[in-house]
Amino acid sequence: MKPQPNVNSQYARDLTYAFHPYTNARAHEERGPIIMDHGKGVFVYDDQGNEYLEALAGLWSVGVGYGEERLVTAAAEQMRKLPYYHSFAHKANGPAIDLAEQLVKMTPERLARVFFANSGSEANDTVIKMVWYYNNAIGRPEKKKIVARIRGYHGITIASGSLTGLPWNHRDFDLPIANILHTACPHHYRFAMEGESEEEFASRLAGQFEQLILDEGPETIAAFIGEPVMGAGGVIVPPKTYWQKIQAICRKYDILVIADEVITGFGRTGTPFACERFDIDPDILVLSKQITSSYLPMSAVLFTDAFYQPIADNTAKIGTFGHGFTTSGHPVASAVALENLAIIQERDLFGNAARVGEYLQTRLRSAFSDHPLVGEIRGVGLIAAVELVADKASKRSFDPLGRLGAYFFDQGHKRGIIIRNVQDSMAICPPLVITEEEVDELVKRFGQTLDDALAW
Ligand code: PMP
Repeated sequence: MKPQPNVNSQYARDLTYAFHPYTNARAHEERGPIIMDHGKGVFVYDDQGNEYLEALAGLWSVGVGYGEERLVTAAAEQMRKLPYYHSFAHKANGPAIDLAEQLVKMTPERLARVFFANSGSEANDTVIKMVWYYNNAIGRPEKKKIVARIRGYHGITIASGSLTGLPWNHRDFDLPIANILHTACPHHYRFAMEGESEEEFASRLAGQFEQLILDEGPETIAAFIGEPVMGAGGVIVPPKTYWQKIQAICRKYDILVIADEVITGFGRTGTPFACERFDIDPDILVLSKQITSSYLPMSAVLFTDAFYQPIADNTAKIGTFGHGFTTSGHPVASAVALENLAIIQERDLFGNAARVGEYLQTRLRSAFSDHPLVGEIRGVGLIAAVELVADKASKRSFDPLGRLGAYFFDQGHKRGIIIRNVQDSMAICPPLVITEEEVDELVKRFGQTLDDALAW
């Protein structure tokens, strides 16, 4: 029930003072906030004492779950010792150095160096600027265009928001900027032709990508960026052979491969990085979210030595690399990241994500495949989506698209489960610590919400 606001309550003050990201402001004025108060493991509790199973791990990000005291201790100890230092002009700090080494050692082989930022968006802006800088440094200033994908998500700043391929991130923001192109979305269920196999669909998309390169001129295309599994665009697992085919085209035209693993990094898909699962050999890798389990903001851009060398040469000519954030390589965020990675390793959370992820995928399919509202259940490891449709046979969506999804999202709160609706696809991405029993509870609460949706 909506609490009765008194003018001094947090509830009332939120309505008076806050403007929320990714929120319909007018609807918010009507319905007010859910004020989260605390959490433990995969559960969070609001200020009214309601319990929710956090089936989206916050925003796909709280890997070790809520209430992890070791991260609190790591932050407090580092705060006491050195709460802040920057990384400009040859300064460094111990935790950021240790973290850089650890990231290079645990990620795909060719990645050799790290640049730290604070959010996924900042990291992707950094990537775009570095790609441009690199091509200027090696004397091909015309090779600047970056190809992203329709329904891809890479952030919301002016440049990273341009990479994102979702209409609500562009509309009325005057995006995308120049030099950003979008190619097709690899969603077999929605976009394959009648009878087209996954491999055939992948070949067709690769062909479209190549045609785009040829139309634009290969000498103008600098990079391809993709999430190994699309997240915020609706949890889209690419068809078999997709990444191999896309990568082969990138190599053919000397186009850098950028893997945005902001969601998929650190075990989400059942391997430490999704690059391993999908056989991606990136020139640039983007990480954030689970790097600290989002207890503090942090992101990292990793790249190869071949990419680094010309950039480094150019900084020597200019006298500096004129890019960096006040809080790049923040010592407290770095200390929390290191402790987070230690917990992941000690508790074998990558292994847990693989095992329990398998269980989640199986349970979702066995529980809901035959449900009249369910069109597709997709996912891998501990990331999944259930797409609701008006007609299973024809895959016809509800009209207007997203209204039932919004209802499901709200109703989920009443059933004690937090998911994310991407239009009518219900995304599930629980903390890596989730157990099989908790998956059973998730499936139970999801199923109750689905039945409510049927009666809607
Ligand atoms: N890349 C991907 C793949 C993401 O999922 C997100 C956030 N959901 C971002 C980038 C942007 O991250 P941030 O919200 O931290 O800017």
